[in-house]
Amino acid sequence: MTSLRRIAARLATGALMPGLLAAATFAQAQEAARYPDRQLRMVVPFAAGGPTDIIARLVAAKMGESMGRAVVVENRGGAGGTIGAAEAARLPADGYTLMFHNVSTAAIAPFVYRKLTYDTVRDFTPISRLADVPNVLIINRDVPVKNLKEFIAFTRANPNRINYGSSGIGTVLHLSAELFKQLTSTEGTHVAYKGSAPATAELMAGTLTFLFDNLPGQIEGIRAGTVRALGVTTGTRVSVLPDVPTLAEAGLPAFRNASWFALFVRSGTPHEISRRLEAEAIKAVQDPTVAQRIRDLGAIPIASSAEDLGRFWRAELDLWRPLVERLNLSLD
Ligand code: GLU
Repeated sequence: MTSLRRIAARLATGALMPGLLAAATFAQAQEAARYPDRQLRMVVPFAAGGPTDIIARLVAAKMGESMGRAVVVENRGGAGGTIGAAEAARLPADGYTLMFHNVSTAAIAPFVYRKLTYDTVRDFTPISRLADVPNVLIINRDVPVKNLKEFIAFTRANPNRINYGSSGIGTVLHLSAELFKQLTSTEGTHVAYKGSAPATAELMAGTLTFLFDNLPGQIEGIRAGTVRALGVTTGTRVSVLPDVPTLAEAGLPAFRNASWFALFVRSGTPHEISRRLEAEAIKAVQDPTVAQRIRDLGAIPIASSAEDLGRFWRAELDLWRPLVERLNLSLD
């Protein structure tokens, strides 16, 4: 069955006003057949230059190349990514706005930010989980410690001198830092940024002592020695950083988390268009050059179906709700 016929068949089922519906069906089918006839935007809810932005730009460029229309990345950082998500939830559900969600905006923010102008679960529809992403604990390179144990001792000895940054209140990176403080009984002052790129600049300048970030945002700095990695948050070491222990190995057995990046559209986007975007996103991440670049950055290319992302997302929501409650981080 052609896409046109499939849409017509679906919409005509149970139609009360066949004439009107047929007209709507025809318009939608025409729209899907023409799609995309102009450029698309990809909303990235964190600052430019950070890990979310780096991976989003890779995928956007590849999808744009394949669809013959530019996919333009728009960075809308702030409030832990909820400013960008609010904007994407407001724009028309026509398939011309893609939302680049991550674990923080899709699975944690709904429990942290109680007064959002949108409903994350109702307003967004899964397209594809693009990549799984380890997180890493980074310190300013002048902090006089060699490993995690020494860093914990240093923070205990200097409670008033410790500042740590994150990509926003309630993000996985903020939660990681709070968990770190809880597990190590240490203190420090949190500073929230619009993304980890501006936080990293402050860490390198010495304003911040430590931060957690998605590995792709730090891998080059770690290799160049401009920042130092004390541990990764995953259950096993990461192949691009064989000498960096997991935090569990380094002395915090209960410490384990990971991030992920995924593409969503606004709910209500025509089905045929969502399916096209799913196919394009999968193709982009499976492209050997893109997949290799994602691996070089320390992440894992996934390229899941929309259905798999839906299942995974529900499991992540169930996982993060109690963790947010335990850390007592909800904002009213
Ligand atoms: N590190 C990401 C960025 O600023 C944000 C990740 C997160 O908060 O989950 O691009």
